[in-house]
Amino acid sequence: MSSNDKPQIKITVVGYGSQGRAHALNLRDSGFDVTVGLRPGGPTEAKAQADGFTVKPVAEAVADADLVAVLTPDMVQKKLYNDVLAPNLKQGACLLFAHGLNVHFGMITPREDLDVVLVAPKGPGALVRREYEIGRGVPCIYAVHQDKSGQAEQLALAYAGGLGGARANIIKTTFKEETETDLFGEQAVLCGGASALVQAGFETLVEAGYQPEIAYYEVLHELKLIVDLFYEGGITRMLEFISETAQYGDFVSGPRVIDASVKARMKDVLTDIQNGTFTRNWQAEYDAGLPNYKQWQQADKDHPIEKVGRELRAKMVWLQSQNA
Ligand code: NAD
Ligand code: MG
Repeated sequence: MSSNDKPQIKITVVGYGSQGRAHALNLRDSGFDVTVGLRPGGPTEAKAQADGFTVKPVAEAVADADLVAVLTPDMVQKKLYNDVLAPNLKQGACLLFAHGLNVHFGMITPREDLDVVLVAPKGPGALVRREYEIGRGVPCIYAVHQDKSGQAEQLALAYAGGLGGARANIIKTTFKEETETDLFGEQAVLCGGASALVQAGFETLVEAGYQPEIAYYEVLHELKLIVDLFYEGGITRMLEFISETAQYGDFVSGPRVIDASVKARMKDVLTDIQNGTFTRNWQAEYDAGLPNYKQWQQADKDHPIEKVGRELRAKMVWLQSQNA
């Protein structure tokens, strides 16, 4: 059952957000029969319909599906599984996640007759779609939690192939490894680490009396060039492109800023992820109505770098269509 065969499996994608939309479109373009399951009147229903999908309430959409991809926010998945998926999934169906959190930490215990797999593209949904459209792919990692049919691994591989992942790379993992490394990456390096590094650099320059516009270009805008070089050829390629002065500064000051104490705190972050503390705290925050989350989100949006960034990006005409 490779994605090149005439697909015999019916896929229902539940949720049409960042990942859901990209998965549904890529799978359909790869020849799969795709239905979208959503809450009637929900915020993304019109979008899925505009993209030409048959959209049904989740209970109905999953009832005759061979494979159901759960692409709603992680924190709603437990209730969704218990209330809607468990009572309606057909016997022997395959349940697929894009992140292992709920299964790994035991919030969801899938029915025994189901295959349970994970296919996680290593990129945000918009990139999963864009790379596919230009004939490339985002690397995917996959795992099997439960293999009732004996076909679970093949199903996961067919799905990853349908997303375009095979054009880049597909690596086998476990729910545990995917969950813990994914949480660590986004917390310590990608989202948490990178944004805090940029904000601290901006504050340091502005507090020293430099113009915010120049600080913005220096610590945020130029990061794109550096990350593109990392992406193309690793740190080696960056070193090839930057000046000798920039290299010397990198060698002497990088380890002063990101020193052993930072790495020790990264290990603390990882420990909290591994022992379930992070997930417990996140669940409690979610259940309490996100009081801290909303405050922290607002603080990020109110940071002075956002104001100057908006003004400077308004002059970059090529960004206007993307931000519309
Ligand atoms: P999202 O917030 O962008 O989209 C969620 C979708 O689910 C929306 O269509 C929303 O209307 C719908 N939804 C919300 N509650 C629902 C409910 N109770 N019933 C039915 N539909 C409901 O979500 P996302 O960021 O695409 O995340 C989906 C999954 O993909 C998560 O498991 C996440 O960890 C994983 N993932 C996300 C990314 C990413 O870049 N965003 C990357 C890899 C994996
Ligand atoms: Mg991730």
